[in-house]
Amino acid sequence: MDNKTAIILGGGISGLLVSKVLSKKYEKVIIIEKDKLEDKPEVRQGQSHAGQFHVLLLRGLNTLEHYFKGITGELKDSGAVELDLGNGAYWYSYGGVKQNKITGINTLLSSRKIIDYTLRKRVEKIPNVQIVDKTKYIDLIEENGTIKGVKVKGIDTEEYEIKSDLVIDATGRGSLTPKWLENNNFSKVEEERTVVNITYKTAIYNSPKGGLQDGKMLMYSPTSPEKIGVVIQPIENNQNLVCVAGWHKEDPPTDEDLLEFLKQLPDERFYKVLSACNKESDFVTYKVPYCLRRYFEKLADFPKGFLPIGDVFCNLNPAHGQGITSACLQVEILEKLIQKHDPANMSAIYFKKIVKVLDECWSASAYENFRYEETIGIKPKALNLVNKYMVAIHKAANKDASVYAELVKVSVMIKPAMNLFSPPFMWKVFAANMRK
Ligand SMILES: Cc1cc2nc3c(=O)[nH]c(=O)nc-3n(C[C@H](O)[C@H](O)[C@H](O)COP(=O)(O)OP(=O)(O)OC[C@H]3O[C@@H](n4cnc5c(N)ncnc54)[C@H](O)[C@@H]3O)c2cc1C
Repeated sequence: MDNKTAIILGGGISGLLVSKVLSKKYEKVIIIEKDKLEDKPEVRQGQSHAGQFHVLLLRGLNTLEHYFKGITGELKDSGAVELDLGNGAYWYSYGGVKQNKITGINTLLSSRKIIDYTLRKRVEKIPNVQIVDKTKYIDLIEENGTIKGVKVKGIDTEEYEIKSDLVIDATGRGSLTPKWLENNNFSKVEEERTVVNITYKTAIYNSPKGGLQDGKMLMYSPTSPEKIGVVIQPIENNQNLVCVAGWHKEDPPTDEDLLEFLKQLPDERFYKVLSACNKESDFVTYKVPYCLRRYFEKLADFPKGFLPIGDVFCNLNPAHGQGITSACLQVEILEKLIQKHDPANMSAIYFKKIVKVLDECWSASAYENFRYEETIGIKPKALNLVNKYMVAIHKAANKDASVYAELVKVSVMIKPAMNLFSPPFMWKVFAANMRK
């Protein structure tokens, strides 16, 4: 191999996935992770969001399976619940429940820590990938515009340097890269923020007895100006992950207050199910003040030997469940490009391709974000028209299972959003809405 060493900063989902791709191109791949990694599924400090409700969209699951054959089975063996989203979701929104039918659009439901751990165990088996935990990356080593390695510090070690041919920044939202670029005579990265002020509260409950839940994932989506949404998601060990989210600083209710809240909902199933479950963990809170996008592609100059990935580019609204899948799509792009280009010298083409993925995820999320007039940021084009049409789709999906199935395909990113705007589908939406 021409390329000797690649360093990946961050052992989250992006870092783990990209290690597989780079292991085919580099003699040695080193993942630097600041947290101590236990030999068990865990929610650790550097990934505290992993304790919250996560759904792995089918498009993302397909990528995981592509890179790590058999991982779907391993996740199931660890207890992940397979669910046909067309048939297994009890989703209340816009005055009704989505019409279910079997679609074969299966996805896996589990706590996020199971996904991360299963993936990490697979990466640990790649002979030329080394995961160095308890080690924090603190600086990049630059020579004449090229990154030549990194400075790191282990919990129990002095600061030391590792030389490399490529460094990937997969350190997520808190990436040091924007500051580093500014401090080292590169341009300032333009950022876009959309203020959503969402508070997540998540706890584990057991499953109710007597078929009350019928294996379904229950979702209550608030209609603006309502601000509280609820998900009751079956996960491993016959448990439920219960997540209550409040938009725009609305404090989500928990425990008895949550039951009181569910009692007021127009659909009694949410109350019936949760009141039959016992809580098995405390509620854990996570706040998402804003969605963030970093426009690296607009920079006039960018160091060679260095590429960002995953949440470093973009933090999407978690409510739409696209983050992991966005990372998966980015890794696929990187894999394709390194077949033809020198990975250390391809930032321009890499950014150009990545933008397409980010644009699609960001804009889908943006229309939803701006359903609330309190949302602050750059509004997407034709906002009112698109959102009115989306409401019509949701209402049609409450009456017509085939409309719902199309909505699911787009939501899990196996079909492009444009499919919802095809004339035959629009006609279906219109016809369903005309029905009593
Ligand atoms: C509340 C919430 C709910 C979400 N729900 C969903 C969902 O349902 N579906 C979905 O697909 N996505 C969801 N997401 C988004 C998803 O979690 C992220 O997109 C995904 O975790 C991004 O992975 P990453 O590896 O890029 O970054 P991260 O997961 O942030 O990983 C970064 C890693 O880098 C390490 N690190 C950081 N700094 C350093 C350093 N200096 N040195 C060494 N290591 C470092 C961290 O410890 C961590 O391990 C949600 C996010 C939130 C906040």
